[in-house]
Amino acid sequence: MSAKLPDEKPSEAELRLAWRRAATETRAVLRQADAAWARHSCPGSAECCQLAVTKRPPWLWPSEWKVLEERLARDRRPVPPQRGDGACPLLDAEGKRCTVYEDRPLGCRTFFCARIVGPSKLPAEETNALLERLKALNLEADDEAAPRSITAWFSPHPDPLPRGGEGATRR
Ligand code: SF4
Repeated sequence: MSAKLPDEKPSEAELRLAWRRAATETRAVLRQADAAWARHSCPGSAECCQLAVTKRPPWLWPSEWKVLEERLARDRRPVPPQRGDGACPLLDAEGKRCTVYEDRPLGCRTFFCARIVGPSKLPAEETNALLERLKALNLEADDEAAPRSITAWFSPHPDPLPRGGEGATRR
């Protein structure tokens, strides 16, 4: 087997494997976020998912989008279209419940909401460390990777995952 030169581009198969690995590591980060925020909760009103109202969409690294794509594929669902009310397309039809709750991105787990319930001390340090880990694992998969808002991920674009990701079908 010949050794790869440092500037040789990875193959499609290598990129797919890299993003699959990044998605697996991302799930571990998400579990750690749940552990860090275990003493906090919210009413689960889905108000934070009304993105046209809050104007504060979560920002997702490509590996978080990959986790969502894999979830939708497991559920045999296509990537949903944008909603007319501007809420997150991953809400159910009534706009009340996240349909990918167990796989939701990091930003959806960190209670950026005034209705948070729990200890006044927030796990800011742990959250910052997890954000750094998320950034690092994405840059390991692709040194040009960058986060974008969840709204932007749902906008039609030709290559949802930069350089070789497996983008799901979109409408
Ligand atoms: S992914 Fe789920 S929790 Fe996050 S904004 Fe969308 S519906 Fe809400």
